[in-house]
Amino acid sequence: MKAAVVRAFGEPLVIEDRPGPEPGPGQVRVRVEASGLCHTDIHAAHGDWSVKPNPPFVPGHEGVGLVEKLGDGVTHLSLGQRVAVPWLGKACGRCEHCLSGWETLCEQQINTGYGCDGGYAEKLLAWADFAQPVPESVTAIDAAPLTCAGVTTYKALKVADVKPTQLVAISGIGGLGHLAVQYAKIAGATVAAIDVTDEKLELAAELGADLVIDARKHDVGEVLKRHGGAHAAIALAVNEDAFTAVNSGLRRGGKLVMVALPAHGTIQVPIFDTVLNGTSVIGSIVGTRQDLAEVFQLHAAGRTRVICETRPLSSVNESIDDVLRGQVKARIVFDLGAGR
Ligand SMILES: [Zn+2]
Ligand SMILES: [Zn+2]
Repeated sequence: MKAAVVRAFGEPLVIEDRPGPEPGPGQVRVRVEASGLCHTDIHAAHGDWSVKPNPPFVPGHEGVGLVEKLGDGVTHLSLGQRVAVPWLGKACGRCEHCLSGWETLCEQQINTGYGCDGGYAEKLLAWADFAQPVPESVTAIDAAPLTCAGVTTYKALKVADVKPTQLVAISGIGGLGHLAVQYAKIAGATVAAIDVTDEKLELAAELGADLVIDARKHDVGEVLKRHGGAHAAIALAVNEDAFTAVNSGLRRGGKLVMVALPAHGTIQVPIFDTVLNGTSVIGSIVGTRQDLAEVFQLHAAGRTRVICETRPLSSVNESIDDVLRGQVKARIVFDLGAGR
């Protein structure tokens, strides 16, 4: 099978021919149809964060495909069934976090495409309990971005506890942001979309954003305050200044939900304003299996649209460059299902 492999941090990925992996007990082997490119994969390939993967490894945590082999003990999935293999490859199932509905915080979790090989390959292994069944009406290409970009933004809006009368600011309209706008609309909120490119602001408006703010031309905090201030701000742009800007546009009691992960990010949170205004800063990391099931359910019901472009896996290095240059409208999905 072909796989795009990180052999050393910061070097181009290498397309290798590898033997198909054998599923161990509790695992399944998935024949990948589609695999999304998430910014986290680039951080993984560059070794950007303090906790690093171990090269050689295969990145990718938006792999979607068909179950083609069952490991011992797997009874709830069947051959030919479409599943998604998310970032949360496995959690312990026994700790405080797992038992309280926060498996995404499990300290023993294994992350797909980081702690084990991921979806930039024709085949991948998944722990069956964490491989999410994809509803029949959802295509593999659509399911791929939903598997991280979708569930991550859906969860961020849950964490923000958005209500229908509220103003929600979505900072950064890309692979994540274009879905965040839609989830915020589904939650009934008034949505302010913030970005620095015309194309992405137009996309946000097309997807239902009530207000678009061009951060190149306007002071984001001021514009939000003119509209009463945001009850919640979802920070998705991989840029520290964007976090600071949107934080300054919160209303009293507002919540900043941090989602994007700049390589070395720090923001100044003014103590006086935070105390007097009773604002919160919250981190939100991906979502649980139940969150992903809900994301797929909404898509199957026709309530969300996935904007992506498909490319062959062989374009992996130029695709990464395009993402880093901000030249991708929403999401790149590697199409591995063609020509079979
Ligand atoms: Zn991701
Ligand atoms: Zn756990």
